Amino acid sequence: MNDCLFCKIVAGEIPADKLYEDDDVLVFRDIAPQAPTHFLVIPRKHIKGPADVTIDDEQVIGKLLRIGGDIVAREGHSHYRIVFNNGSRAGQTVFHIHMHILAGRNMNWPPG
Ligand code: 5GP
Ligand code: ZN
Repeated sequence: MNDCLFCKIVAGEIPADKLYEDDDVLVFRDIAPQAPTHFLVIPRKHIKGPADVTIDDEQVIGKLLRIGGDIVAREGHSHYRIVFNNGSRAGQTVFHIHMHILAGRNMNWPPG
């Protein structure tokens, strides 16, 4: 966990363009945005990925949706894509669970 990039952002050891934070959740812009609006919503708690969510995490994982939805609406979007990647073959590169929200362009389906 010590070398987890997002734990370092949570701890303030690495800077991030933060949009929101509270005792449970942190929201910051993605460093390599894939849409005009692209931010990440993460729990402060280190959870490796979607497959590692336990019953104790249910509340905070629901909170990611509520907070992320509020922020993307505040940024003026009602059409957006939410993504959780689980595992490297699905595109997960940071192994601290994070919810992507992408908005501001048309999205394709199926995703790549
Ligand atoms: P994943 O590919 O694991 O689903 O998503 C990780 C995301 O974190 C990527 O979209 C990547 O651009 C973003 N990211 C990686 N390093 C940093 C960083 O240091 N700061 C910020 N803000 N985002 C990062
Ligand atoms: Zn972490």
